[in-house]
Amino acid sequence: MYEVHIASDNPWIIDVEATFEGGVETGAIAFPPGALGLSVYDNLGKRTPREHGRSFLLHCRGTCRVHYQFNLTAAAELTHDAASVAVRSEGDLVAPASTWFLRPEPVNPHTPVELNVDTSQVGREARRSVRFEAPFPRDSRGHYQLVARDLSALGYTLWGSFVTRDVPVTSGRLQLALTAGSRAVTDESIVKWVGRTARALDTVYGRFPIDQALLTIVPVQGSNVVEFGRTVPAGGASILLFVGADADASTLANDWILAHELVHLGVPSMPRDGRWLDEGLATYYEPVLRARAGLSSPAEVWASLVDHAEKGAATRAEPSLAATEEHDRVYFGGAAFCLAADVEIRSKTSSKRSLDDGLKRALARGANATRVWTVDEFVDVLDDGVGQAVVRPMLDRIRRAKIPCNAADPERCAPDETPSLARLFASLGVKPGRPGEVTFDDGAPLAKIRRELLMVDVAAANEIAKD
Ligand SMILES: [Zn+2]
Repeated sequence: MYEVHIASDNPWIIDVEATFEGGVETGAIAFPPGALGLSVYDNLGKRTPREHGRSFLLHCRGTCRVHYQFNLTAAAELTHDAASVAVRSEGDLVAPASTWFLRPEPVNPHTPVELNVDTSQVGREARRSVRFEAPFPRDSRGHYQLVARDLSALGYTLWGSFVTRDVPVTSGRLQLALTAGSRAVTDESIVKWVGRTARALDTVYGRFPIDQALLTIVPVQGSNVVEFGRTVPAGGASILLFVGADADASTLANDWILAHELVHLGVPSMPRDGRWLDEGLATYYEPVLRARAGLSSPAEVWASLVDHAEKGAATRAEPSLAATEEHDRVYFGGAAFCLAADVEIRSKTSSKRSLDDGLKRALARGANATRVWTVDEFVDVLDDGVGQAVVRPMLDRIRRAKIPCNAADPERCAPDETPSLARLFASLGVKPGRPGEVTFDDGAPLAKIRRELLMVDVAAANEIAKD
């Protein structure tokens, strides 16, 4: 059980009291410099545990109580507002809960953990209250319910006077939080932009892909673009998105970053072996779903898919997609794999099935960003949704391929190698032109699949056009 009070809101200092049962050796924390005055109380009395790396040596026998304060503002200052640690937004503060959570070790990963945050008063005598928001499920008393295995990577918590809005989605709940700071556009136009993008996901998943998500938008002063986003799903799905304070409505309408982060919500987390597929799916679908929802043109989308393939193709230096950590290989190589898989599924099933069917089957099996799967489990469920093994043999090929392949025998190349990708675009009738431009050949053997892949979902597009 964790009880949190607000010691101060300028700077943001929280007061945390945790009770651990059954004996605990150490308490680990993601950002130790923020933790202040840690004390342990048990039947031997009070003591100050020693710090050891990112942990404190608690040595609790039986039940003990741990008390500390955490300076969230200092954590943001020390990291220059790192999205992975803590971010200031005028008087508001956003931080993954893991930044300030002291995790007991050893612990059974399935142990339930309860969190209560009291925001009714700031400091001891203050007459003010503040707001707190978190993406975690709550019980009837309003206490957050967590599980010990998630404590090291918990989603974003918000502190301050931010505004929240519910964004209409086809199923589930998408809560939007707008932190303090000036913006060129109204809150209403942000709600509309997020709503349009969220509903565009229906063209892939058939619904909004998760029951509950918290999207926090932080304005970036001096910028007029959508800067970047980060999805942290453990304990409850949360996304932090940095949007230029000077970004106008047309910039938002042309943004692809939000679509990318939202696609992640429907894909299980595969931290050990499938980050390339998780990022690949988000990168592949970000332009595709926007075109299907009528928010961008097929020529734009194919130009970006060609560009992804060029940036992400297998190289001698970073051969296997399944093993790489290199940014362009993970994102763009992953996206090229997803395009190749989608085309292969459509071609093998005479356009009766697509990669979307695989993703829908995974959702039906309980996959979403808050769940941890292996890439093998996920790929088998994708193929189950397709009705035959299509993605599995492609995965085997990228794991086994000798790179570079013999260009004279492209049949043996992995799907993310340059000869395979060149063949793929040629068969779809996509001809690269000047950078950012493509032309189409309707006589190509898979030209029909090229058109079907971005076919506008009329119901979704009409829904979006109502805004
Ligand atoms: Zn991503």
